[in-house]
Amino acid sequence: MSLKSRKALVTGSTSGIGLACARALAREGADVCINGFGPAEAIEVERAGIEAEFGVRCLYDGADMSKPDEIARMVARVEAEFGALDVLVNNAGIQFVSPIEDFPVDKWDAILAINLSSAFHTIRAATPGMKARKWGRIVNTASAHSLVASPFKAAYVAAKHGVVGLTKTVALELATSGVTANCVSPGYVWTPLVEKQIPDTMKARNMTREEVIEKVLLTAQPTRQFVTVDQVAACVLYLCSDAASQITGANISMDGGWTAA
Ligand code: NAD
Repeated sequence: MSLKSRKALVTGSTSGIGLACARALAREGADVCINGFGPAEAIEVERAGIEAEFGVRCLYDGADMSKPDEIARMVARVEAEFGALDVLVNNAGIQFVSPIEDFPVDKWDAILAINLSSAFHTIRAATPGMKARKWGRIVNTASAHSLVASPFKAAYVAAKHGVVGLTKTVALELATSGVTANCVSPGYVWTPLVEKQIPDTMKARNMTREEVIEKVLLTAQPTRQFVTVDQVAACVLYLCSDAASQITGANISMDGGWTAA
C-alpha cells in the first residue's frame, strides 16, 4: 500500500500509539503533521527523524487538544502548508483514575475535552476539504473502554463510548463522499499512558505495582499480553488503504479477546 502524496495529521503523536501511527503513515509515503506535548528538543528529534528516515515532510504543531480555537488553527495550518488533509487520526488522550465520588471535576472536563470533543473539532474542520477531494480517512483511537467499563475510569469510559457514537454518525454523514470514519479499540498497550495510571490504580485498589499489571491490566486480556503500538499503527494503515474503503462506522477491537468475554 502506498500513501504517497497523502497528507496526514495525527493528534497526540509525540508519544506512544500516536507516534507509531505517524511513523507508519510516513513510512508509506504520507506527509505528516505530528502534535502533542513534550520537551521541544525531543519533539524536534522525532520530527526531523521522520523526514530523514522516510523522505516525507513532517510538521509539528503544538495545539492543545483541549482548546477548540487551537485545533481549528492547526487543521487550517496543515491544509495551508500541505495543500490538503486526507488522513486524520484522532489519538490524543489522557487518563485519570479515581472513585466517582472523589473524581475531580477539572479532570472530568479535561478528559471529555481531549479524548472526545477534540475529535469533533478536528473532524468538523477537516470534513469540507475531504468531501471536496472525494477521499478521506478518519481513524479515531477509541479503546476497549469504548465497549466495556472498568471501575474508577468514569470520564475515560464515557469519553471513549462517545467517540464511537461520533464516529458512527460521521461515517453515515460521509458515506457517499469517499470518506470513511472508523475507530480502532486497543486493549492495554504498553505506553506512558498506561504506565502513569499504575500508581493511582495501586492506591484506588490497594495493590502493588506487580498486582496492578497482573490482576488489573493483563487479567482483562485473555491473551495475557499487551498490545503493541506497532500493531495499532498497522490497523490504522489498513483502514487508510483502498482495501478498507467499505469499512466505515466500524469499531475494530485489538484487545487480546478482552471484549469477547
Ligand atoms: P501517551 O500518553 O503515550 O500519548 C498521548 C499523546 O497525547 C501524547 O503525545 C501527549 O502529548 C498527547 N496529549 C495529551 N494531552 C494533550 C493535549 N491536551 N493536546 C495535545 N496533545 C495531548 O498515550 P497512548 O497510550 O499512546 O494513548 C494514545 C491514545 O490511545 C489515547 O487516546 C488513549 O486513550 C488510547 N488508548 C490507549 C491504550 C493504552 O493501553 N495505552 C489503550 C486503548 C486506547
